[in-house]
Amino acid sequence: MSLKIDRTKGACSTCEQPFKAGAKYTSRLYNLAEGWRRKDYCGRCLDKAPAEAIAEWKVEVKKHTKMVLSESAIWQVLSSKDPELGEKPLTYILCLMMVRKRKLRLISTKRVKGKEVQTYENKSRKVHLKVEVPALGPAAFAKLQEEITDFFSGEEV
Ligand SMILES: [Zn+2]
Repeated sequence: MSLKIDRTKGACSTCEQPFKAGAKYTSRLYNLAEGWRRKDYCGRCLDKAPAEAIAEWKVEVKKHTKMVLSESAIWQVLSSKDPELGEKPLTYILCLMMVRKRKLRLISTKRVKGKEVQTYENKSRKVHLKVEVPALGPAAFAKLQEEITDFFSGEEV
């Protein structure tokens, strides 16, 4: 179970050109053999990027503006058909974040084969998700949450 996720690098994943203030680019989340990876693409490199992404969202680089979490990216992830979705600690934390925003509801908590499994739901978005509660200490939990905020950052364009 890998907790490692990419941080945004502020540059195109293909041509490595830095994104300056005012630049618009596209972020995609891919499910690769080594885990979930975020890739950022400038307009020129996006066409040549692999198409089968779990989520895609637009980002605009703004001066003096704190990046916010892209909610559309999170919904795409939570609605994705990735068979391992419910086993990823990332998924669990995304669910907690959406519960805090009152956009997802915790329906039930069950114990399945020694693991705690929670069911989350948003009826209007047709999200019904069973998620394993990861065994994480408070420090690991806080670190992962911070990484996720960076991972899904973006201004909706
Ligand atoms: Zn590029």
